[in-house]
Amino acid sequence: MTQDDSLKNYHAKRDFTKTTEPDGGDSGARETPIFVVQKHDASHLHYDFRIEIDGALKSWAVPKGPSMDPKVKRLAIPTEDHPLDYASFEGVIPKGEYGGGTVMVWDIGTFRNLKAEGEEPLSMAESYTKGHLDFHIEGKKLRGAFTMIRTKRGGAKPQWLLWKKKDGFAASGRDILVDEPNSATTGRSLEQISVEEGDQQP
Ligand code: MN
Repeated sequence: MTQDDSLKNYHAKRDFTKTTEPDGGDSGARETPIFVVQKHDASHLHYDFRIEIDGALKSWAVPKGPSMDPKVKRLAIPTEDHPLDYASFEGVIPKGEYGGGTVMVWDIGTFRNLKAEGEEPLSMAESYTKGHLDFHIEGKKLRGAFTMIRTKRGGAKPQWLLWKKKDGFAASGRDILVDEPNSATTGRSLEQISVEEGDQQP
């Protein structure tokens, strides 16, 4: 799938005369692949986990958000691919538009594909197709190895699980969502972003 094809749904869902979200025009491959977790106060508060694969951000909605506790597995529901420059988007999507609500860059950083380091190396795209990703992330909040597995549960729509692998970064009994609620790039709370960006026009 080419990058243009993978972003077709992203473009179809949005009116760029009404939202300040990036239209993807500035996307380009980087030397070190990136991930982002966006806290999204839409109809329900959730966390969007996005990781770079083949020039776009593969995306999941994680209702309960990521955890640093290896015992905690989080449901991750696939959503449409997003352009790479979406990773830095923090602002307010107008009410009534797709995903209307406040978006915070809760965490951002780079990652390493752990499946590329094994006996039979797999690219991120190959791992995605197989439904099993292993990566080591270097965020400002999330660090260390994480796994994502596609499950058959939930009927026709595929669901994934996201969890922390055991390593020196794992932290049981600590809720990083509560301890570090604000933006990784601007330090702002959802309320501050909502007030400061709320009346912006594209
Ligand atoms: Mn969302």
